Amino acid sequence: MTMTKKLYFDDPMQSEFTAEVIEIRKHALGFGVILPSTFFYPTGGGQSHDTGILGPARVVDVIIEGEEIIHILDKEIDLGSYPAKIDWERRFANMQHHTGQHIFSSAFWTELGLETISSHISGEAPTTIDFNKGTLSTEEIARVEKAANKMVFENREIKAYFVENKESVPFRRPPKVDGEIRVIEIEGYDYSACGGTHLPQTGMVGMLKIVRTERINQKTRIHFVAGWQALAYFDETQKAAQESAQLLAIGIDALKETVGNQQEQLKSAQNELKKLREMKLEIEASKMAQLAEAVDDKWLATSLFENRNAGELRSLAMKLRAYPGMVTVLASFDGSKLSLITACADDTNVNANDLLQKHLAPFEGRGGGDSSIAQGGGTAKNVDELFQHTKEMVRSS
Ligand SMILES: [Zn+2]
Repeated sequence: MTMTKKLYFDDPMQSEFTAEVIEIRKHALGFGVILPSTFFYPTGGGQSHDTGILGPARVVDVIIEGEEIIHILDKEIDLGSYPAKIDWERRFANMQHHTGQHIFSSAFWTELGLETISSHISGEAPTTIDFNKGTLSTEEIARVEKAANKMVFENREIKAYFVENKESVPFRRPPKVDGEIRVIEIEGYDYSACGGTHLPQTGMVGMLKIVRTERINQKTRIHFVAGWQALAYFDETQKAAQESAQLLAIGIDALKETVGNQQEQLKSAQNELKKLREMKLEIEASKMAQLAEAVDDKWLATSLFENRNAGELRSLAMKLRAYPGMVTVLASFDGSKLSLITACADDTNVNANDLLQKHLAPFEGRGGGDSSIAQGGGTAKNVDELFQHTKEMVRSS
């Protein structure tokens, strides 16, 4: 068991070094190598591991087991010295978000008295922090964002050091463990116990922006972006706004008002359309009623439509049902699927469900309803004989 020296503690800005592979280890995650000291950060403390290159191999994972750091490589290599390089974009994004997390946690504490419960740092997706409060107002979020960005723009120094006695440091959240503790101090603002990698100056974090809040049971989770990711987020949001404005042939500043107005117009147009559709169905029903065939003391209206919407078919049947003595059988066929609806006026003594079942029987179709209206369907090759026996069915019921 090697006690790996954590060089990233002393210099988190170092990305290249000479790696001495002193031991090779078959690990469940892959081919592992051990170095006496490393700048590669292993997953821990809410921050994910570094990736990079180690000689001819890629470092795909870095884990810490006890005091030993294991570098998982994508291929086997021999013992010896190799040039090593950390994927800096990934590490830097992790540091911007990790340092941003300290800044936000400090700002939430000083501005709103909210304690950080947990956090998950990501350089790719927004980083999250959980707080012990159910909801946050827009004003509270704005206040915290302002305080956090002030800490950034003041470009405060960030120090990392070890202390033996935790009582000697005014921690925001005192660590539970005793013994040697690593302190991350944002000059004049914040003291936390942490084993992650942080930037040496708050200014390097860049802009901090909360992009989403969500409530999880009694907690609030914030999602934030920092630095490069904040720029990417701004870019994306701006592009979406620009493209939307272009579609409407207006400027971005008129977007909110225009979309609001269009929504109103759309709503009233939809209402109008609904009314017109109703009217059209009324007219259609009335025409069908006029053309209905007399069967004894009843009237029979049948119609086969090509691929007609089921809801519309039902509405039409309901309207026909309002005509005294009217028995209605409507069908829609798309070449393979048959939909059927039957409706019987109250004074007909014809059972709509019986009528439906009789019509569905040759197609092994399924469906149901009550005596006044019933609906079903099945599959069919052709429906040429669909209404062949309808008249007898009505007569015999
Ligand atoms: Zn930290």
